[in-house]
Amino acid sequence: MLSREEILEVLSEYDLKDLSIATLGSHTALHILKGAKEEGLRSVVVCEEGRTTPYERLGVADEIIVVESFQDMLDEEVQERLRELNAIVVPHGSFVAYVGLDGIENEFCVPMFGNRRLLRWESERYLERKLLERAGVKVPKVFDSPEDIDRPVIVKFPGARGGRGYFICSDSEEFEEKAERLIEDGVIDEEDLEQAHIEEYVVGTNFCVHYFRSVVEDTVEVLGMDRRYETNIDGLVRMPASDQLEAGLEPSYVISGNIPVVVRESLLVQLYEMGDRVVRASEDIEEPGFIGPFCLQTLCTENLEFYVFELSARIDGGTNVTFLPYAYLKFGEIVTMGRRIAKEVREARDKGLLEDVVT
Ligand code: ADP
Repeated sequence: MLSREEILEVLSEYDLKDLSIATLGSHTALHILKGAKEEGLRSVVVCEEGRTTPYERLGVADEIIVVESFQDMLDEEVQERLRELNAIVVPHGSFVAYVGLDGIENEFCVPMFGNRRLLRWESERYLERKLLERAGVKVPKVFDSPEDIDRPVIVKFPGARGGRGYFICSDSEEFEEKAERLIEDGVIDEEDLEQAHIEEYVVGTNFCVHYFRSVVEDTVEVLGMDRRYETNIDGLVRMPASDQLEAGLEPSYVISGNIPVVVRESLLVQLYEMGDRVVRASEDIEEPGFIGPFCLQTLCTENLEFYVFELSARIDGGTNVTFLPYAYLKFGEIVTMGRRIAKEVREARDKGLLEDVVT
């Protein structure tokens, strides 16, 4: 595990007047890079061959480091170049997926914005739940065994399959039937089934809430929210019910896009409270807790209670909706999550607090 001292040692060599914000070219890189430029910092993207087009055409990157494969982010040469550029790296979902948690914790010796030790807490379901339970936010009930299913549940499988093969059922018989069919169709295998995560299906509206824990301002901000646009479920529900029954299709929950959404104003109080609680829990778990962006993926029930079914311990893909209404209300201009990050980096630097926002 890279120590705090090692990272601070790298930071101490940086020319703070010439900082870069760097990230990997995927996920939310566009507004991370744009935000850096808007705040007067250099923007650097590490991009896989063949995937540079958006960064070139949109002109958001001051420097594009082209690598053969995203895993090359860990190469000493790439890391050295990032350090030369005085880069603060912003981790996002694809960064975590490609570089890997072990790589981030043990090998990636470039200062990162945010708390790198908390990334593991979103990747392993039992850790994620531990954090949410410690925070005291509502979470869907989990069933240890298919025999215990006594209500509609959603069955999820491990790994980065992004919602493929997830299914809904209401009792153990239906569980066995559907699982068998998915195995026959080669969507899941026996091993996946053993690791199935069975969770109460919460009927409600989806809000993925984009928070920002500011160290500089010592506050937790709600900046905006999105809801997911998932295939094939969002297509399936456009069929009349009778045709759905006829078609006999299995749903999947593969994310394909995001839709901006706002919450009823009176519900905002609850969302702030949830964010505060989650930040406090994160402090207990891994000092100094969350730094910068994190996201709670929630479902709001008919009793107007929010259940958190997932957590992003870093910038969430849903921030790509770009216009974050509460960020506008707070700052009086369009501030994307990327710009919010760059603003925090710049202000931390100006106030001598940079050490407190990187790990
Ligand atoms: P992944 O992280 O693998 O994409 P998620 O946990 O985000 O999986 O779930 C994918 C989708 O499944 C969610 O966006 C939501 O539409 C639906 N979903 C997940 N958990 C629940 C739940 N407990 N109740 C109802 N729907 C859920």
